[in-house]
Amino acid sequence: MSPVAMTLLLVVTLAAFAYSASKRWALMMTAKTPANRADRLGDRVKAVLVYMFGQKRMPRYAAAGWAHIIVFFGFMVLLLNSLILWGRGYVLGFNFWVFGEDQPLGMAYAFLRDIFTLLVILGVLVFYWNRLVLRLKRLTLNVEGVLILTIIFVMMISDFVYEGGLMVRAARAAGETGAHTHAFMPFSSMFGVAMSGLSDGAVNFLWHAGYWTHSALVLIFLNLLPYGKHFHIITVLPNVFARDLTPRGRIRPLEDIEGRLEREETLGVKAVEDLSWKDVLDFYTCTECGRCTDQCPAARTGKQLSPKHFTIGLRDYMYENQATLIAGPAPAAEGESADEKFMLVPETVKPEVLWACTTCGACEEECPVFISYIDKIIGVRQNLVMEQGTFPEQLQTMLQGIETVGNPYSYPNDQRADWAEGLDVPLMSDGPEIDYLYWVGCAASFDDRSRKVAKALAKLLKMAGVKFAILGPEETCNGDPARRAGNEYLFQMLATQNVELLNGYNIKRIVTACPHCYNTLKNEYPDFGGKFEVVHHSELLAQLIRDGKLKPKKSVSATLAFHDACYLGRHNDVYDAPREILRAIPGVQLREPEAARDRGMCCGAGGAQMWKEEEAGDSRINHARMQQLLDVLPGGNSCTIATACPFCKTMLSDALADKDHEEVGQLDIAELLLKSMEGE
Ligand code: SF4
Ligand code: SF4
Repeated sequence: MSPVAMTLLLVVTLAAFAYSASKRWALMMTAKTPANRADRLGDRVKAVLVYMFGQKRMPRYAAAGWAHIIVFFGFMVLLLNSLILWGRGYVLGFNFWVFGEDQPLGMAYAFLRDIFTLLVILGVLVFYWNRLVLRLKRLTLNVEGVLILTIIFVMMISDFVYEGGLMVRAARAAGETGAHTHAFMPFSSMFGVAMSGLSDGAVNFLWHAGYWTHSALVLIFLNLLPYGKHFHIITVLPNVFARDLTPRGRIRPLEDIEGRLEREETLGVKAVEDLSWKDVLDFYTCTECGRCTDQCPAARTGKQLSPKHFTIGLRDYMYENQATLIAGPAPAAEGESADEKFMLVPETVKPEVLWACTTCGACEEECPVFISYIDKIIGVRQNLVMEQGTFPEQLQTMLQGIETVGNPYSYPNDQRADWAEGLDVPLMSDGPEIDYLYWVGCAASFDDRSRKVAKALAKLLKMAGVKFAILGPEETCNGDPARRAGNEYLFQMLATQNVELLNGYNIKRIVTACPHCYNTLKNEYPDFGGKFEVVHHSELLAQLIRDGKLKPKKSVSATLAFHDACYLGRHNDVYDAPREILRAIPGVQLREPEAARDRGMCCGAGGAQMWKEEEAGDSRINHARMQQLLDVLPGGNSCTIATACPFCKTMLSDALADKDHEEVGQLDIAELLLKSMEGE
């Protein structure tokens, strides 16, 4: 077409892109916390194949998801077309040899290109519809989104115009009228036919315009990427590859706290430089689709926390301060330390945002590009709690209770085994032979409602002939609320002490009815030397039913809605075991709320929320969740909300009482199973 023009276009646009990309790279490197993501290469490649190329999470939002899948594969197919077009700037009719249009592979490719060009147009129309007509709240309805869609739309149309022009020119060069259409290029052929009535000048103009518009727009598009949400087109592959492959519910231990304190180093995340390169890559990769916020229980109940805005707020803050951050810390103003100048809280991240998170994981489950939230939020909380001492006052009571008497309820720890009175449950200190250690947890030790669950579980284990014992006063809090409140120091003390105790007894298997204890013992204690198998009571009870050791026979006529606990379901993938138990109970009718399993809504207790006032919003999380569960129940006193977590139990029982729904029952799966067993 024009080698000079094409060379100029390529050199200028590629150089501009290289400049922008190098700045983004340098900005990413300002984050100082190391993150090793070079392990488990096979699993990482698999994640890329499944989640990026397989687009596995996309169809969770059907229309937008399928439109995205089409556009994604369209881009894959059409990338080659752009390379071919740039080549034609130098050699008219250029083609990579196997893709010549007279070769079978070339014809197959031309067919695919034709189909995908149309499909991408249709995909873009769906996105226009979501933005301009439906104006979906979860999206960022700004000019950038529409501009990029328009660029893609024009690029696709220009390709059809170029191909149509080629067909007409080929016919006229052969002294024929019409267009040299091809059956394997049906849509380009339609453009060819439509253009065949135009004058030579008009056809030539459109052919050139189609060519240069497509060739140039691809390069302009590339240059816009680093400045907006479409940067994910480039960063998604490394981001999915570098995703955290450790168990979902695990918080990474903060290393060497004592040493850091002595050296007066920062604890947790105070400024953006305390993040890791992977955190910054997360910011670059956010597509602003808003799926995270759409599922977030805090955002759904009107709190100030919106995970999407948390991410893009930090990203924009970094972009705005790019030059300063790359140059290194700016000299502090008088009376201000350099450190304070870049503090994230309260300007960039508001405390109300930070303390509203329940660590439920709904955002991370939904994010199609694997952006993490919990580690970042806990990182900032760690700094506030351990370094600055600014956190919600009510958390102090919980932390003090754990620190002084070993439980957040502040009860004397020697009352831990009181619930077991009369049940003949041995203590580990008596030296019994056991199959399982029953880790009771603070809630079932001290909270009256949960004590009933402990009793029910103990009875069931005895009925099934399972040999078990408890630690009694030797058990202390596992540390989950302290860790999630940001007091990593206290958590690590508890974890070390508990692991020492458990290893001292040579414990091999642990059962617990608390998903928070389950998650911590199973996923976090291995970092402190814990080497034991941990099962949730739902898993063990389901197995005992399967083995015929528990035979629920008595009819419990009730209609149940089961509530998935976040730390059992989303964080640990235990969805089926509790349902299996409920289905095994005669007379039970199990109903699923719309938000169930990996989309189940949090009860509002996790992430240390249980121990503080809920942040201000339109409604309470437990009330909203209760309503979702009630919506699938027919009403009346034969209805029960079933749970498998002491904190969910508390939150949902409170919600039922607050809203005068006391006719609706609320029982743990162990209590329901026991009802069906007693009297055997
Ligand atoms: S973990 Fe849960 S509460 Fe926290 S931001 Fe994500 S969805 Fe919201
Ligand atoms: S964090 Fe993930 S889910 Fe949330 S807006 Fe960004 S890409 Fe979408």
